[in-house]
Amino acid sequence: MNEDPQQQPATVRLRGTLAAVPAYKPGKPASGPAGRPSYKISSNENPYPPLPSVLEAITMAAQQVNRYPDMAVTALTEAIAQRFNVAPERVATGTGSVGVLGQLMMITCEPGDEVVYAWRSFEAYPIIAALAGATSVAVPLTDTAEHNLEAMTAAISARTRLVLICTPNNPTGPSISGAALRDFLDEVPSETLVVIDEAYLEFNTDPDAPDALALAADYPNVAVLRTFSKAYGLAGLRIGYAVAPVEVATALRKAATPFGVSDLAQQAAIASLDAFDELQERVDSLVVERDRVRSALLAQGWAIPATQANFVWFPLGDATLDFAAAAAEKGLTVRPFAGEGVRATIGEPEANDLLIHVASDFRDSVSRVQRDKGVQS
Ligand SMILES: *Cc1c(COP(=O)(O)O)cnc(C)c1O
Repeated sequence: MNEDPQQQPATVRLRGTLAAVPAYKPGKPASGPAGRPSYKISSNENPYPPLPSVLEAITMAAQQVNRYPDMAVTALTEAIAQRFNVAPERVATGTGSVGVLGQLMMITCEPGDEVVYAWRSFEAYPIIAALAGATSVAVPLTDTAEHNLEAMTAAISARTRLVLICTPNNPTGPSISGAALRDFLDEVPSETLVVIDEAYLEFNTDPDAPDALALAADYPNVAVLRTFSKAYGLAGLRIGYAVAPVEVATALRKAATPFGVSDLAQQAAIASLDAFDELQERVDSLVVERDRVRSALLAQGWAIPATQANFVWFPLGDATLDFAAAAAEKGLTVRPFAGEGVRATIGEPEANDLLIHVASDFRDSVSRVQRDKGVQS
């Protein structure tokens, strides 16, 4: 029998800030009705398995997992620098872009310093800020679920060390325009680091989307955060990177978990950069699916915000958990944010069809309930 962990008296003193750290809620695994297919569309993962060339790189690397990886991540850093035409000194890798985000927080914030970000946005932001002992200044999105850059400008104080911009925004979908972002950057003090989190960059087809690398070239306080998890389909290998000012990238390397980025991840990321055109075809088909799903939902009467990512946002408010339960019954695991809405990832066409179907049924059942209530009152 296992011991009961509650039997052990608590004696160790932990940092007080931990009480304020919300726990990260991972997307639930797929589970649905017996005998029918089920789909996990709760974590914005890529539905496609690794390309053969990427799988081969991973398999090769697997043969030497008795060795530590290249701690300096030399070859991948070079490959990223070449691909995006930036100096390798400006590139810093980490264990997913969430890992890099933690390093960014570590190198900029003393306890009590402030981090400004939009809300609702990526749920890792408040967690990582709280772990660093930093104070979150969360600025509500506009009623079209976009960053309110004017309000964010007003929220920046002398204590603000870090500003996080998520574009396209997770979980709502809209992209910020390049011109609006430039105007915003003009207002931010140059000692405050602005991080542009572009986890969904490759899905962004908005002609007005920012060229974040150009912004990072023009402003000495801008870093761009990117990941191999979403468009490149390497979520399970944990690899992301920042393109940042040299002194920021140097500090990021100091704050990295030693040997954190495995050789499997390094080799898979290099192979993925080599196979970019093939991967982009998959991204393109997901974008077509995204636009198909949103159009169908708009036609059903849903107020789905414009999305430039690989997901759609249902602003359901109090009906959020009901919708998630109705989806689960049909074999779809979505990501509910209680009281606010549901995020659903664009997956394979069958999953998307099922989502459209679930959404339609849900609207019908809600209007039936409302009609019945109307009749009674
Ligand atoms: C998924 C996501 C990330 C990337 O996470 P990884 O740690 O690279 O897997 C970063 N930012 C946002 C906004 C995301 O949605």
